[in-house]
Amino acid sequence: MKRIIIIGGGVAGLASATFLADKGFEIILFESAPKLGGRCYSFFNEKNGCFIDNGKHLIAGWYHNFRKFLELTGSADNFTFQKKFNVSFLNEKNKTDKIYLSSNPFGFLFSFLRSDIFSKSDLIPFYRLLKKIKNENLRINKFPASEFIKELGFSENTINLFWKPVSISIFNTRLENVGTGIFTEVLKRGFDSKGNYLLGYPKTDSYNAFIKNTESFLQRHSVLIKKNCSVKRINFSEGNITDIVTEDSNIVYADYFILAIPFYAYKNVFSENICKKHFSMLQNLKTSSIINFHLFLKEKVPSVLMEYRKEMLGFHNSLLQWLFVNSDKHINISISGASEISYKNSALIDIEKNTLFDIVLNNLKLYIKSLDRNDIADYIVIKEKRATYIQDSGSIDLRKFNGKLSSNMFIAGDWTKTYLPSTLESAALSAKICTDKIINFCK
Ligand SMILES: Cc1cc2nc3c(=O)[nH]c(=O)nc-3n(C[C@H](O)[C@H](O)[C@H](O)COP(=O)(O)OP(=O)(O)OC[C@H]3O[C@@H](n4cnc5c(N)ncnc54)[C@H](O)[C@@H]3O)c2cc1C
Repeated sequence: MKRIIIIGGGVAGLASATFLADKGFEIILFESAPKLGGRCYSFFNEKNGCFIDNGKHLIAGWYHNFRKFLELTGSADNFTFQKKFNVSFLNEKNKTDKIYLSSNPFGFLFSFLRSDIFSKSDLIPFYRLLKKIKNENLRINKFPASEFIKELGFSENTINLFWKPVSISIFNTRLENVGTGIFTEVLKRGFDSKGNYLLGYPKTDSYNAFIKNTESFLQRHSVLIKKNCSVKRINFSEGNITDIVTEDSNIVYADYFILAIPFYAYKNVFSENICKKHFSMLQNLKTSSIINFHLFLKEKVPSVLMEYRKEMLGFHNSLLQWLFVNSDKHINISISGASEISYKNSALIDIEKNTLFDIVLNNLKLYIKSLDRNDIADYIVIKEKRATYIQDSGSIDLRKFNGKLSSNMFIAGDWTKTYLPSTLESAALSAKICTDKIINFCK
């Protein structure tokens, strides 16, 4: 049986290991951190006695490859899917605006009319949009999505209250920064078949939702998992990887190598010459940040929020974006695109954590009037500076790797050429592309 080395224990690496272990390959996985999961992780917080996510990871019906990975590792039941699409937003009047969606034409019309923020004048732009994504190949269209949406005729109000939150949640950046190609690709997948657009929530934190099960699955399939073991050098000669060198100076050989590391880590493992020759375009991919705030309350979470215990709650016209009620004393607020949002001339991501907490609390109080500083027993702020890459128009040309680079080297990761935004599904799809190729070679 062929031996495969996988470098990187994020979702792309874990899904690669799972797909191959399921077929009986001999696998060694190297992860530089002491934990698995990469940018999707949680940790146990002794002080508050619970697991904490670096950020709540939501999935969608169209995450077919990620869901296959969950099924194989026995984790699918740890996610729950909405029966019908609806999302609520708190507005400054202390009311909630609700959005409903449906994919069949009658359901769509009905749900559209029930939604608080759409107006009748949005109906024609919506139909134009659905027609375009159905009939035209827009995959590599570089036109800014903000202009595309305007040209379809959406009102300013709908752009502000619907499309802008959609952009920041899915693409982690402003609508102006998103290319029409990737924007329409996601919508197309969402409306491709029944249930695709429904949101899936993990029932617990990421570790307990799927990382723990994945580790057990891999161990049961005799995968050697080397945590805390960074790959220091990948030796590449005549178009092939000859070997890799780990930080503890071991030289390791394999038949095939899957690199599932982020694009900015290539310069750490290849020589300057190889980087210049094969990976120089990667330095032009940009990243975007996400900040998560975990607030632990002395008393129970206000009842207005408890209603949303099993979903997420958005904020209209606020710096705050999404709120999750994790338990009756723990809420999690998330702000995406935090490198692009300014507060008093500084990007949010650059602001010191205690000040950030004050900013968040003051903003939260505008919506939850009963909340007071004294109600907060503790808080934790998690900044992810390089949470995702920015899927702007230019990124189409930079994301040129689609699985195989040479006869024994495969490239996986959410940033590769999957035509998807930086998501768990993009990571899992990239794993599927690489592992299918290896499985085919070995037939
Ligand atoms: C706060 C936050 C919230 C998010 N929310 C969502 C969401 O709701 N839904 C969604 O779909 N996506 C979400 N994402 C995006 C999602 O987490 C990523 O797209 C996905 O996890 C990327 O996986 P990956 O395996 O491609 O990369 P990574 O997770 O970056 O994995 C790469 C791994 O390689 C390791 N590595 C690097 N160099 C080496 C080396 N030399 N040797 C060994 N190991 C190495 C790293 O330590 C890392 O573990 C979110 C991301 C963040 C940060």
